[in-house]
Amino acid sequence: MTQTGATQAPTTGAAVIDGKAFSDRLVTRVADAASALAARIGRAPALAVVLVGDNPASAVYVRNKIERTTAAGMRSIERRLDATTGQDELLAIIDELNADDGVDGILVQLPLPPQIDEAAVINAISPDKDVDGFHVVNAGRLATGQDALVPCTPYGCLMLLQDHLGDLSGLNAVVVGRSNIVGKPMAQLLVQQSCTVTIAHSRTRDLQAVCAAADILVAAVGRPEMITGDFIKPGATVIDVGINRVPAPERGEGKFRLTGDVDFASAAAVAGAITPVPGGVGPMTIACLLRNTLVAAARRFDAELADL
Ligand code: NDP
Repeated sequence: MTQTGATQAPTTGAAVIDGKAFSDRLVTRVADAASALAARIGRAPALAVVLVGDNPASAVYVRNKIERTTAAGMRSIERRLDATTGQDELLAIIDELNADDGVDGILVQLPLPPQIDEAAVINAISPDKDVDGFHVVNAGRLATGQDALVPCTPYGCLMLLQDHLGDLSGLNAVVVGRSNIVGKPMAQLLVQQSCTVTIAHSRTRDLQAVCAAADILVAAVGRPEMITGDFIKPGATVIDVGINRVPAPERGEGKFRLTGDVDFASAAAVAGAITPVPGGVGPMTIACLLRNTLVAAARRFDAELADL
């Protein structure tokens, strides 16, 4: 069934979907298309990243995004603001970036400090530069099947699913999690692909039975290894969005490891295919951010893009 890239898990029958390899290939395609677009418009596509405060995890994410943007031949513009920055000051910077013709994409790293209303800031970004796809206009466009900038993580999950399964039409999909940035847009994308979609959340009754009916199971919960093999239909495709940092005393005192929302070992014993953590969905998120920046730039200049 696999079209590219999946390898067999060593101790089980499940194919392991290699998001790192897929994302590397996507970034290469994006970089080639960015270079062609730059030749046409006279400059590289440009992404502005705004970081407010000094949250260490956010600083790492932003540094990574900037490095990957530059490596893909695009221009990165960085705005670092003090943790005490007020909402009006941040909104003024967004206005400036919206008006700047040399900026194609704008990303405000979340979370924002408590004095700032996140929704107000996200909705102040021009929808056409909203490369995170969180603006209410992009959410509405996605929900109504219009051209949208789609949130990066769920779009990355969809690309992995299509690469692995081909046509998704008619499959039963269960998305565990209903956040605006992962669960809801993931469900919308799967509906668009003609899946029969169930969204589960913390109030869902008998989550195990709901999950066990899924041909496609997407876990976006934020609870380490909560989904075990007995939640999974034999042969199902499991996409683990979770990134959880858990203590790993076996690696030494005070050490941590990353794990997903799915218990990999028991799930891989039942599933047909599964994404690992790390190396599954995570690398797709940044690749899709670069893709969205390219798409935003091409749309602003009415340029055709090859299928990415
Ligand atoms: P949120 O905390 O915003 O949402 C979590 C969802 O899980 C909520 O809808 C919640 O339900 C549901 N939930 C919580 N507990 C349960 C439970 N016991 N049973 C069923 N549902 C439950 O998280 P995000 O969507 O932002 O992120 C989810 C995970 O994905 C996290 O681990 C995060 O780190 C990871 N992530 C990974 C990314 C990547 O690049 N790979 C990018 C973004 C996120 P309710 O709504 O009822 O509270």
